[in-house]
Amino acid sequence: MAEIFYDDDADLSIIQSKKVAVIGYGSQGHAHALNLRDSGVDVVVGLREGSSSIAKAQEQGLATATVDVAVKDADVIMILAPDQHQRTIYSELIEPNMKEGAALFFAHGFNIRYNYIKPSADHDVCMVAPKGPGHTVRRQYVEGRGVPDIVAIEQDASGQAWDLALSYAKAIGGTRAGVIKTTFTEETETDLFGEQTVLCGGVSQLIQYGFEVLVEAGYQPEIAYFEVLHELKLIVDLINEGGLTKQRWSISDTAEYGDYVSGPRVISPNVKDNMKDVLDDIQTGAFAERFISDQDKGGPEFQELRKRGEGHEIEKVGAELRKMFSWKSVDEDYSDGH
Ligand code: NDP
Ligand code: MG
Ligand code: MG
Repeated sequence: MAEIFYDDDADLSIIQSKKVAVIGYGSQGHAHALNLRDSGVDVVVGLREGSSSIAKAQEQGLATATVDVAVKDADVIMILAPDQHQRTIYSELIEPNMKEGAALFFAHGFNIRYNYIKPSADHDVCMVAPKGPGHTVRRQYVEGRGVPDIVAIEQDASGQAWDLALSYAKAIGGTRAGVIKTTFTEETETDLFGEQTVLCGGVSQLIQYGFEVLVEAGYQPEIAYFEVLHELKLIVDLINEGGLTKQRWSISDTAEYGDYVSGPRVISPNVKDNMKDVLDDIQTGAFAERFISDQDKGGPEFQELRKRGEGHEIEKVGAELRKMFSWKSVDEDYSDGH
């Protein structure tokens, strides 16, 4: 059984006695910086020169600096720039400016697991990874709650890395919900697997196929949108609250019976073999290598795939429909690109 840690297990004063540099002010960056600040931590946001995020962070009352300057006095450096840029930011701006003994923090193990960043032995290397989007991490904190974190230590140079990481997790609200201990390897591999096979890749493909089958059979695209996309949130909320059982309890008996007899026809056992192939590419590093080599060329494959996704008919139908209905997504703030 996983070990879970709560507010009482963590000492907030540890992180309150440190200077923290948060690098990046995107989805996770803004949430960590604001939550740390509101927990009484001395925080500076490190951004590139001319970044449009400088004004945003300053409007929220945060101190900002260029990355090299932010890092110079920091006891804790949390890297919250996109994974594919972390390697260059680290080697050019962080490593040459880091204080001796400063701790390096991540919210995802990618660059450590695949050796793109290799910190020297005198630094603590820790992970505090919220299991939710940054905007939820901030919203929950403001409402007095928190998003669960997973915490891992790759390198414990100080002998205090665990207490420091747990203190950081408390400051961003994670221990309010609960924190699970893991390793960089376990976090990285399971995170990539979850997002690729189920949460993002699996669900997106399932939605698109469901939509295509209905529309190709002559049903109205607007109706298809509701049946295979809009209602998904309502179903996922029930699953989140009480597992598959609560979801099946809430839906009609007709829907529940259809779930049992048709689910395994659509997601047949060979899908598990496909998932194992994906896991294999994650474990061998083949996925990481494909992602990073494309990014190093400016991401041509990535841009092409994104364009194709955005061009799918369900996206056009959905955009029109969402304008016409009175409900509004709670996450409209994602439209700024995070
Ligand atoms: P974002 O894409 O939202 O981060 C964007 C920020 O990084 C911006 O402030 C941007 O600066 C800055 N940035 C980009 N390139 C550079 C650069 N070359 N130099 C300096 N700053 C740069 O990242 P996320 O928040 O999505 O991800 C951050 C980390 O958190 C990743 O490790 C990710 O895996 C992890 N994570 C993310 C989750 C999420 O909810 N998105 C969930 C859990 C973990 P500018 O403003 O100038 O453009
Ligand atoms: Mg991820
Ligand atoms: Mg229905």
